[in-house]
Amino acid sequence: MRCCRRAFLALAKGGGCLYTVPMKKTGLVLLLLVFSLSGCVGDAAPVRRTVFAMDTVMNLSVYGADADHALAAAEAELHRLDTLLARGTADSAVYAYNHGETPVDAELAELIAQADTIAAATGGAFDPYLGAALDLWGFGSGAGERRVPASSELATAPLLLDLGGIAKGLAGERVRALLCAYRVSGAVLDLGGDVAVLGDKPDGSLWRVALRDPANKSDYLGTLETEGDVYIATSGVYERYFEENGVRYHHILDPKTRRPAESDLVSATVVCESGVWADALATACCVLGTDGALALRERLAGDVDFDLILVTDDSLVWYTTDFEPKQGSPYRYEHIS
Ligand code: ADP
Ligand code: MG
Repeated sequence: MRCCRRAFLALAKGGGCLYTVPMKKTGLVLLLLVFSLSGCVGDAAPVRRTVFAMDTVMNLSVYGADADHALAAAEAELHRLDTLLARGTADSAVYAYNHGETPVDAELAELIAQADTIAAATGGAFDPYLGAALDLWGFGSGAGERRVPASSELATAPLLLDLGGIAKGLAGERVRALLCAYRVSGAVLDLGGDVAVLGDKPDGSLWRVALRDPANKSDYLGTLETEGDVYIATSGVYERYFEENGVRYHHILDPKTRRPAESDLVSATVVCESGVWADALATACCVLGTDGALALRERLAGDVDFDLILVTDDSLVWYTTDFEPKQGSPYRYEHIS
């Protein structure tokens, strides 16, 4: 059993703190998505459970003798995290933080520190304090109608903590650790577009995941094979949006303008051992665009290693890892070594 084998090390770097994520690049792999997970199973059937948390339908598939108990614990943890992070819920730790309550919940304080580290590492493309701006656009939790706010409103919006950009990645990490404690041998956690993979398949083969076509949810871009213990996060400007006067406004904001990011990417997939980093980096890459995302990968190499699959608005797919494009796909594919 491979799960829990690799530890994440925190390293001080230049006064700041970057998390070093040891990661095996060879055979690493990725993919995203979900509709073809039935193709992932080996001989033994997994025990499955569907959970609704974080405004998302999550499908958990677990192999192992104690899978039922493990899944019950996983479901409870997902609801607990949902309560911790739900900005619009009055009993959440984030709500308390945004209303100035002290002391700050210890678990939340650690997450804020990690989010701040990621914000610095991405040059501000990932920004955990966009809560008020998201509310103005109608993308906040429990926020009002979706509309285009005035520039003056955006400019004066206060800084409110919003951890929507790392919530699912955190959930993947925490559930993965929990399943390990239950001695689960392998699992695939479909967290609604993101996928956390853990441990081994019963037949010893690699996990296979299909990456969703951002333009057509019932189709896929290609497939990847991966060993266990990776998190595959996808952010896309097609996920949540509204249209006004023929213009589409989506939920990933460029912190510089507080308006929907206008990069050349329609989706960014990040594969990384750390769920929190993968989730945050996928959002940041949508802001940064192709060149910025590839430069960020180079810059963080050795501290946080990750792979990318980027889909541009020009139907070009850039990928940095083993990836098998779908035959007959209308996309063009470019491998970056
Ligand atoms: P999803 O959670 O739908 O998979 P993402 O992982 O891309 O989507 O996260 C998008 C969420 O992150 C938004 O709904 C919002 O809460 C938050 N967010 C939007 N823009 C940014 C940004 N530039 N940096 C950090 N968080 C962001
Ligand atoms: Mg995400």
